Amino acid sequence: MLQKSSPFMKQANLINGEWVGADSGKTIDVINPATGLKIGTVPNSGKAETQRAINAAAEAFKTWRKTSVLERSKLMRKLHDAILDNQDALAELLTLEQGKSLAESKGEVGMSAAYILWYAEEARRTYGDIVPSPWADRRILVTKEPVGVIAAITPWNFPSSMLARKIGPALATGCTAVVKPATQTPYSGLVWGALCEEVGIPKGVVNILTGSASEIGGEITSNPLVRKITFTGSTEIGKILIKQAADTVKKVSMELGGNAPFIVFDDADVDRAVEGAMIAKFRNSGQTCVCTNRFLVQAGIYDSFVEKFATATAKLKVGDGLESGTQQGPLIDEKAVEKVEEFIADAKQKGGKVITGGKRHALGGSFFEPTVIGDAKADMLFTKEEIFGPVAPVYKFETEQEAIDLANDTQFGLASYFYTQDLGRVFRVSEGLKYGMVGVNEGMITTVEAPFGGVKESGLGKEGGHQGIEDYLDTKYVCVGGLGL
Ligand code: NAP
Repeated sequence: MLQKSSPFMKQANLINGEWVGADSGKTIDVINPATGLKIGTVPNSGKAETQRAINAAAEAFKTWRKTSVLERSKLMRKLHDAILDNQDALAELLTLEQGKSLAESKGEVGMSAAYILWYAEEARRTYGDIVPSPWADRRILVTKEPVGVIAAITPWNFPSSMLARKIGPALATGCTAVVKPATQTPYSGLVWGALCEEVGIPKGVVNILTGSASEIGGEITSNPLVRKITFTGSTEIGKILIKQAADTVKKVSMELGGNAPFIVFDDADVDRAVEGAMIAKFRNSGQTCVCTNRFLVQAGIYDSFVEKFATATAKLKVGDGLESGTQQGPLIDEKAVEKVEEFIADAKQKGGKVITGGKRHALGGSFFEPTVIGDAKADMLFTKEEIFGPVAPVYKFETEQEAIDLANDTQFGLASYFYTQDLGRVFRVSEGLKYGMVGVNEGMITTVEAPFGGVKESGLGKEGGHQGIEDYLDTKYVCVGGLGL
């Protein structure tokens, strides 16, 4: 049975300005995680289609790179407006394939527009340098140039905004792009092609294709025409792509997995901490890379925090993201539910207490009850592994140093959060946390103006902020001599 669809649903690849199917004619079904019903199909493409998309991007680069920065910036402003003009429809499409609540989808689409506007503005500020020369008759110029064809691979949890962070800096700098969205949420990726066409971005500048991850990934990492890979997804796949990209020495940007700690000190404002905890844990039903994986709570405030947090968690409204009032949509698929169940069973067996939730939701399918687990211990699975679901383990600690050590005891280093009212502690702890991002008394900190990204095995490079454009540029040194001065 076919689920209600959306006018924005493009069920084809965009290669060199044409909407085409896979060479084999094969397709992949796309399923609404809230209903289990098929929404539509997308092409099951492979190596040959990827090569054509890369060739188209390489050809388009020859002219796109020469457009003036003002022209590109103007087109990007139009793209920003087109996204906002269609915000409701784009949000509906996103919820249909991803499951998150409509309110969250609208927020994500708004964020996509904000990234495009930000990069339209940053495009005009990719300054070079004129450096004082050690020679009287030579001048030193340092310029920035677009790297060339970039390839972007994105995950299913933010199918719109993760692409905005990659298409934005590519367009701004004069790069051209080959894009592969996640197979489970391809439509919010393909719609970027329709929007780019609508505002007049030339053919071949943005190419989008769906299909076999290993074939498409294999081609874009080995093809010498691609000069940069930008990936958002799991650390496991990120490592494979870094290795594959080594042979042709491409630039790589990696936004990978996380294991965010959320520390609540005795001196924190508990109500504010609970409010922050709800957003830092349950956004997108716990399926974000910056979602809290471990709540670390100081002994003196532990009981009060756990009680208020569990009460707020039990009130969350679970349902189809398209229904009004829904706060928690389904998990992306059955595998995600099984993983969460495994974590909970492991915690229970090792002495963890389920305070609220703990099982599949009565709605069935991949709906899961928002869950709080007390008495979490170091040997439980979620101490080391990313949960990616609506489960909140709460650990108890005694001292500030113990909290910092526990927080840093992971190979990840993406987002971290802590709550305190002590100014000295704000600096001690934020400097002690080995993370790319720190929220102090805030549970949601992502914004286009700030550099988003991790350290350690959470990634390489930044997206957003003035830093986000750098990876799309090569620095060139030009020495002008023989000036007869
Ligand atoms: P994933 O399994 O790594 O997939 C991400 C993308 O990589 C998808 O498009 C996937 O394609 C593709 N892919 C899979 N295998 C590939 C291969 N061999 N070669 C090339 N591409 C390949 O991650 P996910 O489950 O979609 O997303 C969740 C992960 O993303 C979590 O770990 C989360 O923390 C991370 N994430 C990080 C950030 C950040 O900014 N740091 C943001 C969001 C999410 P298919 O869909 O076709 O399999």
